[in-house]
Amino acid sequence: MSQADAESQQVSTGCRPGCGACCIAPSISSSIPGMPEGKPAGMRCVQLDEHNLCRLFGDPRRPAVCEQFSYDPALCGNHREEALSAIIELEQLT
Ligand code: SF4
Ligand code: SF4
Repeated sequence: MSQADAESQQVSTGCRPGCGACCIAPSISSSIPGMPEGKPAGMRCVQLDEHNLCRLFGDPRRPAVCEQFSYDPALCGNHREEALSAIIELEQLT
C-alpha cells in the first residue's frame, strides 16, 4: 500500500497520521512479524515506519490487538506527546 493510502486509511479511523503513540507506549503480548515475543511497553514496534505509520496496515499479519486500538480522544489527546503519556499512564494502571 502506498504511503498516501496508508495515511488516508488511518485518517478515516480518526487516527492522527504520523502519531504512532499506540505503537510505542503500550506493551503488546501477541507476536508481531519481527517481534515474535511481542513488544515491551515503551519500545517502538519494528513495523512502525519512519513516518510513524504501520507497515502492516491492511496486512493479515497485523496483530488483532492493533486493529482494536482505535482513535479515542480521551487517550489520543491533541498531539502525540499527550497520547504517549496517557497510554503510559493507562498501562501502569492495568
Ligand atoms: S495514539 Fe491515537 S492518534 Fe496516536 S496513533 Fe494511536 S490511535 Fe492514532
Ligand atoms: S503492528 Fe503496526 S499497528 Fe501494531 S504496534 Fe506495530 S506498527 Fe503499530
